[in-house]
Amino acid sequence: MASGAVPRVVLVNGGAGFLGSHLCERLLAAGDTVICADNFLTGRRENVAHLTGDSRFRMVEQDVRNPYDFDVSLIFNFASPASPPDYQRDPVGTLLTSVIGAVNALDLARRTGATVVQSSTSEVYGDPLQHPQRESYLGNVNPIGPRGCYDEGKRCAETLFFDYHRKYGVDIRVGRIFNTYGPRMRLDDGRVVSNFIVQALQNKDMTVYGDGQQTRSLCYVDDLVEAFMRFARADGRSTGPINLGNPAEIPVIHLAELVRELTGSRSRIVHLPAVVDDPKQRRPDISRAAEELGWAPRVPLTAGLAKTIRYFDALLSRTEADARK
Ligand code: NAD
Ligand code: UDP
Repeated sequence: MASGAVPRVVLVNGGAGFLGSHLCERLLAAGDTVICADNFLTGRRENVAHLTGDSRFRMVEQDVRNPYDFDVSLIFNFASPASPPDYQRDPVGTLLTSVIGAVNALDLARRTGATVVQSSTSEVYGDPLQHPQRESYLGNVNPIGPRGCYDEGKRCAETLFFDYHRKYGVDIRVGRIFNTYGPRMRLDDGRVVSNFIVQALQNKDMTVYGDGQQTRSLCYVDDLVEAFMRFARADGRSTGPINLGNPAEIPVIHLAELVRELTGSRSRIVHLPAVVDDPKQRRPDISRAAEELGWAPRVPLTAGLAKTIRYFDALLSRTEADARK
């Protein structure tokens, strides 16, 4: 446990997902007790299988759109599909998960006095006209486009968080996550890092959508989880919103070339049609996170990609071995 830190009972909604499972792991390592609630829409039991032997860890199958009750002092609201193909598969369900999921988490916080931490997103800025994005930027979201179910759901959740804070005094933390990658992303989740690595490892065509000049700023998962651990322990005045991400910006086409080089792949890079409403540029201004949390990302892109490549390489070998059985 961190020295002097009081252990907590923590609810992690979406705890069987990519980010949620890393968070559960870190909370247990910090001495906390963890209730992991998930409906396994995009998460997997395997992500937390290694935690189930710990008596301080409990897995609960729960859709966060349905009411629930747990005696907790801290809530992480991470339940929502996050990859565009995942969240567009059931757009109405995605929007309701954000909105009703936020209400249920906030109501629990109100009943128990728990702190509640929201996994918001850089998507609240839409296709940003301000660059880099600061928290004061109000965004450029298309409410009727195919990304609206996710972007507007997350925007509405932020509204709910701040209304519960102002109206009922709920202790909130809103973190706007910028693209984060690392081990435990799904092979087929459709996000750029997983797609490129899996394609490269299999020497298949690497699919760049559009001309590849659009940019993203990629954060390694351990850095992001560290930021949330600090944020949850931060002073109650630190409500956010706070941008959490790595400001090192890269055009998608350069990312494809980098992954191909790091994997030693023979893949070709091919261009597919551009995605509707795809943000053209994205880079967080993280000065608020530095000031309020004393945080900055530490893992450079090549190092984070190398770890993620090792993870997918091992996963593909296991998957291929299982298929041969
Ligand atoms: P993920 O898909 O791996 O994890 C989401 C988890 O939520 C999954 O385990 C899924 O089964 C669960 N879930 C979805 N709907 C649910 C429901 N109705 N009830 C209960 N559980 C449900 O995605 P992730 O990358 O780990 O994202 C976690 C959170 O962080 C999401 O809220 C996402 O919007 C946010 N976020 C992630 C990123 C990123 O780059 N990874 C960026 C911005 C925001
Ligand atoms: N992208 C791509 N090829 C892929 C997957 C994604 O060129 O196989 C692009 C996508 O169009 C976007 C960027 O990579 O410009 C990031 O996409 P991702 O789905 O990972 O995240 P988001 O769009 O939510 O930032």
